[in-house]
Amino acid sequence: MDAYPLSLSMLILEKQKDYDIYMDNDYSKTTEDLLRMGLNAIAKTREDKRIIRESILSETRESGLTIKTRSEWGAKKAQVSDGDDWNYSAIVLHHAGNSYSCDEDSLNKLRQAEKTDINSFGHLSYHYAIDCLGVIFETLDIREKGAHLKGANTGHIGIVFLSDFSLPGEAGKYGPSRWDSLSEFSGQFKDDWDQSFDLPTIQQKNAIEALVKILIKHFPIKELGGHREFATLNALGRACPGTYGLQIAASLRAQFNLTSHGEK
Ligand SMILES: [Zn+2]
Repeated sequence: MDAYPLSLSMLILEKQKDYDIYMDNDYSKTTEDLLRMGLNAIAKTREDKRIIRESILSETRESGLTIKTRSEWGAKKAQVSDGDDWNYSAIVLHHAGNSYSCDEDSLNKLRQAEKTDINSFGHLSYHYAIDCLGVIFETLDIREKGAHLKGANTGHIGIVFLSDFSLPGEAGKYGPSRWDSLSEFSGQFKDDWDQSFDLPTIQQKNAIEALVKILIKHFPIKELGGHREFATLNALGRACPGTYGLQIAASLRAQFNLTSHGEK
């Protein structure tokens, strides 16, 4: 016996017929695709993330650059982790600050940065570092949350130039710059009398352009800027990444159609 009154059975049959038509149309297919892709993006498995980290490394090498993984440059095992992070929406550029110079050996500089960061955070605070010759170092696994933007690290990839891009007096002008990270850890006092600075090198510009191009392919990046532009997130002034670092950020935004923090 029919479980439904005849009129309702007819209605269900009609609905099923509609549904068949609905399932066949292009709109439905597009929606299904979007839904599937969206769910995949949200529910990336551990394996997916591992593959993407590897892809970033291999694509960087394919673009002709040198990138050294944490194990390749001998990073110290982190004492602590701030947990996982993944769906990055922004890239934040930093410079290492006044205690750094292109005249020094980059691995020594990286070791110096690592020591400072481990003392402050228990792990390196940035995801990538770029030396004056354009060599990229993986400083923190991209699957882990950084510690480069106080109170606002989630969703932010941190990249540091192992250079001093600020002009004398910038730290004093744009706010205290001690202890936020390896960047500018030497602080304002040194900056006030420090007359040296580094101009960005062609190799550094090539390296950051290639790295950003690869990162925006893998993550839903919308914003890119210097630490100073993002510092409003934690109400702290920052000179980082200096005048030249901000110029690099502006040129990358134009090149890749990204916005600065807070820009609509
Ligand atoms: Zn910074």
